[in-house]
Amino acid sequence: MNIDSLIKEADRCVKCGLCLPHCPTYQQRQDEGESPRGRIALMQGLAQKKLPLSEKLIGHLDRCLACRACQAMCPSGVKYGELLEATRATIVNETDAPSGRAAEMMQRFVTEPTHRHNLSRLLRIYQGSGLGWLTRHSGLLRPLGLQRLEGVLPKLGTALPTQNYHPPIGKQKGEVGLFVGCMGDSLDTTTIHAAIKLLTHLGYGIHLPAKQNCCGALHLHRGDLKQAGALASENRAAFSRLNIDALIYCASGCGSTLQKLEQTGRNDASIMEIGQFLAQIEWPVTLTLRPLNKQIMIHLPCSLNHVLRQGHTPEALLSKIPGIKLVPLPDNQNCCGAAGDYMIRHPEIADELRDNKLRQLDTMRPDILVSSNIGCALHIAAGIRDLGLKIEVIHPVTLLARQLP
Ligand code: SF4
Ligand code: SF4
Repeated sequence: MNIDSLIKEADRCVKCGLCLPHCPTYQQRQDEGESPRGRIALMQGLAQKKLPLSEKLIGHLDRCLACRACQAMCPSGVKYGELLEATRATIVNETDAPSGRAAEMMQRFVTEPTHRHNLSRLLRIYQGSGLGWLTRHSGLLRPLGLQRLEGVLPKLGTALPTQNYHPPIGKQKGEVGLFVGCMGDSLDTTTIHAAIKLLTHLGYGIHLPAKQNCCGALHLHRGDLKQAGALASENRAAFSRLNIDALIYCASGCGSTLQKLEQTGRNDASIMEIGQFLAQIEWPVTLTLRPLNKQIMIHLPCSLNHVLRQGHTPEALLSKIPGIKLVPLPDNQNCCGAAGDYMIRHPEIADELRDNKLRQLDTMRPDILVSSNIGCALHIAAGIRDLGLKIEVIHPVTLLARQLP
């Protein structure tokens, strides 16, 4: 979005304020500068050069979670997400404020596959050795600014298989590409294993090209359009030669950036979040999932709910499991505070938002919480661990794959 279109888009905000009650940062602070309407005015003022690029202005925009709850509610249809991306890109070009050691490490981790794989290998050794407990409790990581990052790390699953094609089981229904992403090949291999198992059982051959990389969502959120563009090119090259019906991803947070591949590249296959794909295909009539007598709570990530508008799919899919008891997390309209690397950069706000979810979980004590986005899952699971609650946090696809006969 160039400056002229940004000013024009911001002009579409009629200042009605209907978005304010839906904005988590406004709910917390009751400050116009922390509201969507206020931020739009700041972005417009900056673009028109009526406002200087002050620390105060940067702070208001930096504290926005980019959850897009405001955009989903806006009667004028203001494209808040695009305004924010474009303005953050301007800020990155005009300032060189450091993002902090932990956030920088995270950016490096997601961008470089070799770095990611080496670190995942080390983490598996570290977690197996008991050193994790020792370093956490000795405070060794505090001076390095990494304690927060260490706190959200999950117990790592087994590494992904190296083969880049998985044939369908039984009658073939189609071919799909599976986008793994930076988290899927390191911290969340469990979901990818489950996706492979489920999709092959449903009759799909799966392509997992080795050259794919992170989707670039973290970079886009931070305004680093150059790095986000470079990652998009890598992914376009990895998938464009495949003859597939759809390109599927498991972490809903990858959605908005991956959809850009569809808009800008020559990918003929539709790009879809896995729940959306599973909800629209025909399941074999002979396939009956094993019953499950447990209470499952559904968390809806903002990326699934507000950005992709697919908040209905987890419940529709999990209802296929006989005997299951499904309950939505009561404040699903509100962000949990994870928001990419927000939980590392703004831990106090992130924890305050997460506390609302934890209170509900503590009261309702489900057996399992499902979440379609790994960032949210890690953030909420860390809070559950800290409270000593026994609630497993998994992707809905993992639960479906577990119940295969
Ligand atoms: S709801 Fe839309 S038009 Fe109304 S203040 Fe919010 S962004 Fe502006
Ligand atoms: S994206 Fe979320 S945090 Fe940012 S202004 Fe909109 S509702 Fe508020």
